[in-house]
Amino acid sequence: MDTKEFRQWAHHFADWMADYYEDIEKFPVKSQVLPGEIGAKLPLFPPAESEDMENIFIDFREIILPGITHWQSPDFFAYFPANGSFPSILGEMLTAALGAQCMIWETSPAAAELEERVMDWLKLMTGLPQSWSGVIQDTASTSTLAAILSAREKYSGFGVNNAGFAGYEGLRVYCSTETHSSIEKAVKIAGIGRQNLVKVQVDDQFRMDVKALRKAITGDLEAGLKPCCVVATLGTTGSTSVDPLSEIAGICREFNLWLHVDAAYGGTALLLPEYRWMTEGIERADSIVFNPHKWMFTNFDCSAYFVKDKESLIRTFEILPEYLKTATRGQVNDYRDWGVPLGRRFRALKLWFVIRSFGVDGLKSRISEHIEMAKWFERQVIASDGFELLAPRIFSVVCFRYHPLGLSAVEVNHFNQQLLQVINKTGKLYLSHTKLNGNFVLRMSIAQTETRQHHVEAAWESIRTIAANLNPKLHNGEKS
Ligand SMILES: *Cc1c(COP(=O)(O)O)cnc(C)c1O
Repeated sequence: MDTKEFRQWAHHFADWMADYYEDIEKFPVKSQVLPGEIGAKLPLFPPAESEDMENIFIDFREIILPGITHWQSPDFFAYFPANGSFPSILGEMLTAALGAQCMIWETSPAAAELEERVMDWLKLMTGLPQSWSGVIQDTASTSTLAAILSAREKYSGFGVNNAGFAGYEGLRVYCSTETHSSIEKAVKIAGIGRQNLVKVQVDDQFRMDVKALRKAITGDLEAGLKPCCVVATLGTTGSTSVDPLSEIAGICREFNLWLHVDAAYGGTALLLPEYRWMTEGIERADSIVFNPHKWMFTNFDCSAYFVKDKESLIRTFEILPEYLKTATRGQVNDYRDWGVPLGRRFRALKLWFVIRSFGVDGLKSRISEHIEMAKWFERQVIASDGFELLAPRIFSVVCFRYHPLGLSAVEVNHFNQQLLQVINKTGKLYLSHTKLNGNFVLRMSIAQTETRQHHVEAAWESIRTIAANLNPKLHNGEKS
């Protein structure tokens, strides 16, 4: 392909992208294909000869698109969002065009310096301590892995990095029973072992029970184990509960433990001053992650990881083969030493576009609107016969279910499972679920960039109508 043809296709694709967004509500939100359906349409062997972009693009539309779930649809209410925005997409286009591999400052100085600046902006925007340092990682999972590895190395005086675990068996990491699975994954990868992840019980609002945390730590010390790190969550994945950070930070101080804060989704709410109570005590923590790729209109992937002491992060990851030695080392940030991968995408560009194009006030008002819509939805659930809330609403996620009279606990779970399937089968909206206290919970997550009040009202109408039409007697656990 030459530049002339590239130019034509790029214009054509730009039009297609704009049309896609204009028509996005016409697609079924959740892809309706069956397992293997897309694969069956793909050739088993790669083409030996060049194919026309015309044909490739036809296949994109006819084969690929039906197997896409439309995360950018305003009727997407599942999981947490992976929301994007037009400024972000434009930034990603330029990142792709530059194709820069930004592993060290010298391989693209602007990428390193822009990353440093936008991370500083995020600190100002969220009220995080100004003395901390930020780096963009691909995901919260990777950021949390960096935190667990740093905690391990701090505990062992960089001994595990050097000589393996000899003398450091039995490191212990603490989180709540509501913590995201990425913590367990990180503990496994870090060699600490899943058995050494202690899942502390939660209170009636799904927040870590601080007394139980203290008890677990002191019990472990008595047993000769080695408490090393606590992970607190601001906005758990199931119910969006917020762990009591300040009290947890006090315990971490007392026992000299690394405190990592997982705010993957909830962190974006820190843009609003009324949510800053969550980070009371943050100056006594060691690291925090939040994902602009979840609720801050920045296309996946873009995870913001902040540490109090960048030297311990760098010492955990640093490696210096001859071919990566540079004259500028020490004067600049070489981000390859700030995480797992060597190679790095230029992710700061889209984040810069988003912050500038929305403006901080624009970001704040969009986030507030999501929270207001969630409050509206919450009020409908509370006011409506048959529906009930199953967790306090804190951000823009409402945990609820339909509870027809006369059904047993098992039958109610079964009914809601059916309800979710029928809702998602309509293609008009997409919700997901979780379990809290053994109850099957529908999660209404309102955080897609273009979701407006009328989308939420239509969703509520669909949910209500479908629930009313689902005859519980036909769908309960016994009869099916
Ligand atoms: C989504 C989520 C994660 C994982 O995020 P990735 O960026 O996909 O790794 C971790 N923790 C919490 C609380 C989350 O909600």
